[in-house]
Amino acid sequence: MRIGVFSDVHGNVEALEVVLKALGDEKVDCIYCLGDLVGYGPDPDQCVEKVMEAADSVIMGNHDLATIGQMSTSDFNTFARQAIDWTRGVLSSESVERLSQLPFLLVEADATWVHATPGAPDEWDYIISVIDAYYSFESFKTPLCFVGHSHVPVVFIQDENGDIAICDETEITIEEDKKYIINVGSVGQPRDGDPRASYGILDVEKRRYRLNRVIYPIKTVQEKMQKVHLPRFLIARLSTGE
Ligand code: ZN
Repeated sequence: MRIGVFSDVHGNVEALEVVLKALGDEKVDCIYCLGDLVGYGPDPDQCVEKVMEAADSVIMGNHDLATIGQMSTSDFNTFARQAIDWTRGVLSSESVERLSQLPFLLVEADATWVHATPGAPDEWDYIISVIDAYYSFESFKTPLCFVGHSHVPVVFIQDENGDIAICDETEITIEEDKKYIINVGSVGQPRDGDPRASYGILDVEKRRYRLNRVIYPIKTVQEKMQKVHLPRFLIARLSTGE
């Protein structure tokens, strides 16, 4: 079985379409989306619709929760808050309903699937450092945990002695006696300096995980964002992926 995983679409339907096409070409058997379907980008409804249609399982993200009014935006930065306010104004009631039903965490297919952290899925902490990863490794039992949220693809590997290594290789072998926290990066708002949309593929039988990047028409998204007056900072950062 081959599983496609992506996260943090953020209303960027151009990037989403390219990723879904790539996953189709790769003939994956099932698809997981780890949340933040909306927020930042100009096409939230289309993204909700397409993700729900394509993905077998979808997880709740903090931008989804804030957009549907179930979480305060006081912890968000100014630009994120402006984008959420805009998204709230345009999102259809059907999309709100669909987002409101998303789970915060799933344990399926021998893996844990969550937007932020497996220990406290509704607290929206980030797994950036080895210390962050240490606490997260304590809180899930499956060999693999897939996350999004930081928009920076990375893999944390814990060996049988409990030691943790950070790995930025794009292709890894899943070893039997180790545990993995895998961040699949972001489809619609990458922030690791590579503006291309990001997604991962897990080959369960071959025990291989691979991160892939695909180009998408960034200018088209930027023009749409300009038209609806989304913050300039958010428009500009799509070009650099930072
Ligand atoms: Zn996000």
